[in-house]
Amino acid sequence: MKVVKKATEAKGCGGLGLQLPLIVRFPDVLKNRLEALQGAFDFAIQSQGYDSHYQGVYPVKCNQDRFIVEDVVEFGLPYRFGLEAGSKAELLLAMSCLCKGSQDGFLICNGYKDAEYVSLALVARRLQLNTVIVLEQEEEVDLVIEMGRKLGVPPVIGMRAKLRTKHAGHFGSTSGEKGKFGLTTAQVLRVAKRLEREGMLDCLQLLHFHIGSQIPSTALLADGVGEAAQIYCELVRLGAGMRVIDVGGGLGIDYDGSRSPNSDNSVGYGVQEYAAAVVQSIRLACDRKFVKHPIICSESGRALISHHSVLIFEAVSATKGASPAVPPLDFFIESLTDDARADYFNIRAAAIKEDYEMCMLYANQLKDRCVDQFKEGSLGLEHLAGVDSLCELLAKATGSLDQVRTYHVNLSVFTSVPDFWGIGQQFPIVPIHKLDQRPMVKGILSDLTCDSDGKIDKFITGESSLALHELEGGGEGNGNGNGNGGYYLGMFLGGAYQEALGGMHNLFGGPSVVRVAQSDGPHSFAVTRAVPGLSCGEVLRAMQHEPEVMFEALRHRAEECGIAALVGGIARSFHNMPYLSATNASAAAMFVGCGNGCY
Ligand code: PLP
Repeated sequence: MKVVKKATEAKGCGGLGLQLPLIVRFPDVLKNRLEALQGAFDFAIQSQGYDSHYQGVYPVKCNQDRFIVEDVVEFGLPYRFGLEAGSKAELLLAMSCLCKGSQDGFLICNGYKDAEYVSLALVARRLQLNTVIVLEQEEEVDLVIEMGRKLGVPPVIGMRAKLRTKHAGHFGSTSGEKGKFGLTTAQVLRVAKRLEREGMLDCLQLLHFHIGSQIPSTALLADGVGEAAQIYCELVRLGAGMRVIDVGGGLGIDYDGSRSPNSDNSVGYGVQEYAAAVVQSIRLACDRKFVKHPIICSESGRALISHHSVLIFEAVSATKGASPAVPPLDFFIESLTDDARADYFNIRAAAIKEDYEMCMLYANQLKDRCVDQFKEGSLGLEHLAGVDSLCELLAKATGSLDQVRTYHVNLSVFTSVPDFWGIGQQFPIVPIHKLDQRPMVKGILSDLTCDSDGKIDKFITGESSLALHELEGGGEGNGNGNGNGGYYLGMFLGGAYQEALGGMHNLFGGPSVVRVAQSDGPHSFAVTRAVPGLSCGEVLRAMQHEPEVMFEALRHRAEECGIAALVGGIARSFHNMPYLSATNASAAAMFVGCGNGCY
């Protein structure tokens, strides 16, 4: 809450004047995760007498944010930590960031490649970056040989193998013989033979595979790593210059706290068990074939960065709890059909007998008949409203009313939690204050977009509602989006993939971001960077609109209409974020009496 206050308070009052929603990044947490991963492998290697070392890479696709990548490179310096890229843009990013990183850190080039991608990767070797071009498709070997010769750079080549081991969860489609990526056994052999013919078998140094994200258990992991280690040993036997096995991503995290391999939102192991299983499977396979232990590389993304950020957003209003006031209904009895009137009297009779089931049955029947009458034109709006209120009252009295309320949140699910919308991924969501008060209301979260999918109604507890506090003032519209007196929720563990995948549905762009580091002692912090979220002008520009031209057209029209004094407000709207921001009073002030303004 201290961070929210600091971020959202006006600049003149010591705050940073940012609008919600807000991503709070904690680089200290990121450092801790990287050290935990490195420590787990170091421990497994030492305790199992493994005769080489671990050297991880961060797959930048998990979150390409400049400061995250720079942090990973900086925190990874003592451990030869590197980066993984899957496209030309990611490669450029990784190349430039690794110039400041460890000389030995790998630059793993995955993804489908054209001649330009391969050339860039070769240039990276000339820049003395420890670059490995990983073949995802058989044809890429031709490109690598050709471009390597043209540029006079001997490539270091890896191969991504398509394993037989298959992971059954959502992310398992990456794996198995029919998986989208990698080389089949026959292709692995053909590539090795081709490189041998070209006198380049020594360039083949790395074997890569990726079973899929969120690998559910160490049993499946060990199975996959064991299979890959056999391929590795076979490539050694065929004379390749093998020295690295890259076990891909897949180190899962425990979103729901169950530590269960059977939960869609968890995995049945921790970082240490993961590292122990990887090291053991490679060691056993290599020892059996008297093969020198390779360097172990992993491409953990989710496990490295999910924890480092919290998305904070505000509930601005909620549907009211049911307290229907039933208007006197006698006025409408006259207008009802005979059947509907019979239902009405039957409700009364059932209520007197306390037969609630029959009561609701007649009530629903009455409602259906009234809707039909309304559609025909024989009942008015007042009649329909009256019967709705009656039914709501009865539902409440008989205990059959759905008590779950809808909290309207100043957020776009499509922008900030796309994996909930796309694949039903659940994240821990909790209020970040009022933690000494029992949350008494059940609610679902409904976002700002005009799309019925823009809601969160499944939670890591397995329930379809969240325990929330009553909004002050009963809930109707008391939030103000500017951090003063609102109700704030945090979504945790969303640091990986959500920002990179999020779209701009309804032109809601990315949230504001602050970076918070621990300063002196555990209770003090410093905001070391603050970046406002995308403004209306910026999101419009992303869709090829030209805010300056748009503004000029509006200014011109405003002058013609004699309201030039309101133009300043329009200008300001282009600069503000598309999310809810202002109280009624400050919104009015934004437009009234602020002159021409300009974009
Ligand atoms: N490497 C490759 C090739 C991937 O496709 C992925 C993601 O699916 C990763 C690494 C990162 O996986 P994770 O986030 O599960 O660690």
